[in-house]
Formats: sequence, structure tokens, C-alpha cells
Amino acid sequence: MARGDGMLNHDLLPDEKGPQDECGVFGVWAPGEEVAKLTYYGLYALQHRGQESAGIATSDGARINVYKDMGLVSQVFEETTLNSMKGHLAIGHCRYSTTGASHWANAQPTLGPTPNGTVALAHNGNLTNSADLADMVRGKIEADGGKVRGEIAQGNTTDTALVTNLLNGDPGQTLEQTALELLPKVEGAFCFVFMDEDTLYAARDPHGVRPLVLGRLDRGWVVASEQPALATVGASFIREIEPGELIAIDSNGVRSTHFAEATPKGCVFEYVYLARPDAAIAGRSVYESRVEMGRVLARENQAEADIVIPVPESGTPAAIGYAEESGIPFTHGFVKNAYVGRTFIQPSQTLRQLGIKLKLNALETVLKGKRVVVVDDSIVRGNTQRAVVRMLREAGASEVHVKISSPPVKWPCFYGIDFATRAELIANGAAVDEIAASIGADSLAYISEDGMIDATRQPRERLCTACFTGDYPIALPDDSRRGKNLLEKANQPGCEPGPDADLQSVL
Ligand code: SF4
Repeated sequence: MARGDGMLNHDLLPDEKGPQDECGVFGVWAPGEEVAKLTYYGLYALQHRGQESAGIATSDGARINVYKDMGLVSQVFEETTLNSMKGHLAIGHCRYSTTGASHWANAQPTLGPTPNGTVALAHNGNLTNSADLADMVRGKIEADGGKVRGEIAQGNTTDTALVTNLLNGDPGQTLEQTALELLPKVEGAFCFVFMDEDTLYAARDPHGVRPLVLGRLDRGWVVASEQPALATVGASFIREIEPGELIAIDSNGVRSTHFAEATPKGCVFEYVYLARPDAAIAGRSVYESRVEMGRVLARENQAEADIVIPVPESGTPAAIGYAEESGIPFTHGFVKNAYVGRTFIQPSQTLRQLGIKLKLNALETVLKGKRVVVVDDSIVRGNTQRAVVRMLREAGASEVHVKISSPPVKWPCFYGIDFATRAELIANGAAVDEIAASIGADSLAYISEDGMIDATRQPRERLCTACFTGDYPIALPDDSRRGKNLLEKANQPGCEPGPDADLQSVL
């Protein structure tokens, strides 16, 4: 597993933060099985999608229990906790925050009342009309005589909490009916996995930006962000949840309803970096896509070199493809400490000046005197690649040629990936040779946009490529109605009140 230990290529430096995933979701309906433990293992397989907090909700048919906390899945849950969470269905979540700050109140699953009981919700993605949904919540509260219900009252400031609140429908409505009315009004990227006391639900936005799959157990069903989570719990892959589809799973089996017409725009960055290499998205192996990106990169950008090495781990498949196509031998130039995760104690500035190498160490015996091609998946700010080039030179490499298996990242993502602001993206406003000089490489080359898309084997019109092209397939609200802290603005001292500044005071 490339990144399940919580170490991303772009996290190789203590201060560097690269493209962060936006959450993993999991759900299981399986009477007679230990659903809390299955969910734990499912989340463990999805840990690379979010490492800030983790949570599980279970239902025994009468009552929903939620346990959540900050940290990695393995830090949040102990066996005794999981043993105490009985039931026949469960959902789980591991979070990387894209709307709402990273703190306990914003961890998921979120809980809220419904006319018939309780709903628990886990969300992967990022909504683009959170301000409109907040208006809807505000209207509901006013109609309810000012009564605030659910986690919003406890300070949850996420788009997920708004949806949970809005799933509290009219008296007499089932949760399924409320969801089918609400989902067409929700915009942006979303994979929702939610449940009441009896039924597991899964919904995917009409663009299918993020992946969501359905699997089968001997005695039940599983839904998960990525296919490898199915294999981890012994489930077989049945199919992807379709864009614009809501499925419901209970003792009557699986029901499918389409709440919107499908207009697929899958995230191309899932193929480049985000998803596990052993996943498949829209029928295409992520690993094969990455190897092919390396082959294309070699055809488009040849190099005179002695060895090809990856920046481990996510640069590895593309480096294999590059070596295969170019005929230059593949080898490893770095040793990675597999046990450094997010909880690692960050060094002080004084210690950093000693040049301590926490996560990667260069293999001098391999590199000394060699002309090196080093392959990575993407460049965001450039700090990681600058450090990589420096380490290779210190280990004796005579030349360093950096090859990147995605085009220059020039635009931010509003659909659930937290890259950086536009100003922080090194490719925004800098030419390739300027970036090469900035990171200290002898040369730098990126794959072409067409080459990347071809490697995914997906039609261009079915992909989102906005972070490379600026062509956003889902309409964005204006600046004042978007942003990670949109729903927290009113609570931030010194922050200019925006149109939602009264949200928290109203809620
Ligand atoms: S902008 Fe980039 S990262 Fe975001 S969904 Fe589109 S392709 Fe994926």
C-alpha cells in the first residue's frame, strides 16, 4: 500500500503539505457479522484518504451509536470500543478537512434527528453550494421557532452537518424520500454514506467526481470509497455506485434510484496520485494508468541517464513505466522510513538545521557518479522536489533530471482536494525552466495533458482536469460564498463578516 502509513510523497518534508485527500467513507449492512470491526478494517484500507479524524456509527435496529476522535483509525479505536459497538449495520469515516476546521466537533459520522429516529452521515467530497444549504438550514430553523437541531447546535461547521440537518424531513416522510428530494439540491462533489436504524444508504453526485463502490459479503453488502477496502473485508466487487444514484440496502436487498441525470466528470488526480494503486476507477486500473503515464512521459521527454528512480511511494509505478519505455534501468535511490506518520514529533528549527532526514534517505552506493532520472507524480509548491534534488546531489548524483507524471498544477481544487492557494502553486506564473532552476534540477519535464488523459483510458469529456486547465466542470459560487472556513467566519476574531457571518449566531 503506497500511502496507508500516512506518509504522502508531498509530506516528505516536515513543513510541506501537498495535495491532501478529502476523506474515505465505508458502510456495511450485514446481520450476524461484527460490523464495527469490518468498518474499522475498511477504514484502515482507506486511511490514505484522510488522517485527521476517524469515526464509526453502528445500529442494532433500535439505536445508533457513534464513536469518533481525532487521529488515525488505529489511534482512535481500541478493541474494547469496537466490541461494545453492536449491530447489523455501520458506517465509517476518515477525514481530511476541506470545509470546516479540523477539530473534534467536525469529525464524522455526523448525527441528527429525523421524524422517525436518527440519521448518521459520512461524506467524501466538497460541496460548492454550502452557503445556499446554510440558507436552507436557516429557513428551517426559523420555521421551527428558532430551535436548532443536530450537531450544528454543538458547533459542527461542516457542509456535512448542513446535509445531516436537511435530512430531517417533514413528518411522515421516510429518510429515503427526504434524501431523494434533497440530493438534487446539493451541488459539488459528494459521496454520502448514511444510515438510519435499519437501512444503509449510499449516494454519489451526478458528476461522479469521487469514486464509490458496492461490494457483496456472504451475509450482506458493503459500500466504500475504493475497491481495495472491499477486498480488505472479504467482499467481492459488484459495481460502482453510478453518478446521480442513491442506493438503499436493508432486509429487502438493494434498491437503486437515480435522483439526477449522470454527467460524469471523474477526478483525473485520483488516477495520478490520490487513489490506491490497487484500486480501479471506471474500470481502469489505477496502477496500470500510472505505469502508462510513465511510459508516455518517457516517449514525450527522453533523457540521457544511467538510472531511473522513483520518489517513493507514489512515484514508483510511473518510474517503472519510464524505465520500461526508455530502456534506462529502474532502481531505488531512496530508503523510506515506513513508520513515520502524521503523529510524528516535528523537529524544531534548530534540529532542522542539522539537516536531519526524517522520512527519506538517499542511497549513496546507488547514486554516486550517476546521471539520475527521478520520477514523481506531481509538483505543488516545489519544496519536496527541491529537497529531493538536494539529497540526490549530496549522495553524489552527477546529474538530476526530474520527470513528473502529471501536467503543471496551476489551479486550486474546489471539489475536495486541498492543494494550496493559487499563489502557492509553483507552476502558477512560472515557466518550466524557471521551476527547474528553483528546485535545482538539471532538467525538468512534465507529461502532456493529452498524455495523462490517454493513460487513464477515459474519454476526456468524462474527466475533471480543472487543477491543470482551470476548466471547472461544476459551477463555482463567487469568492464570498466559498472557502474552507465559510461556516466559521462569524466565530473568527478579526475576520471580516461575509454574507454568512450571522450563520453561527442564527444557528
Ligand atoms: S480540480 Fe483536480 S483534484 Fe480537483 S476534482 Fe478536478 S482533477 Fe481532481
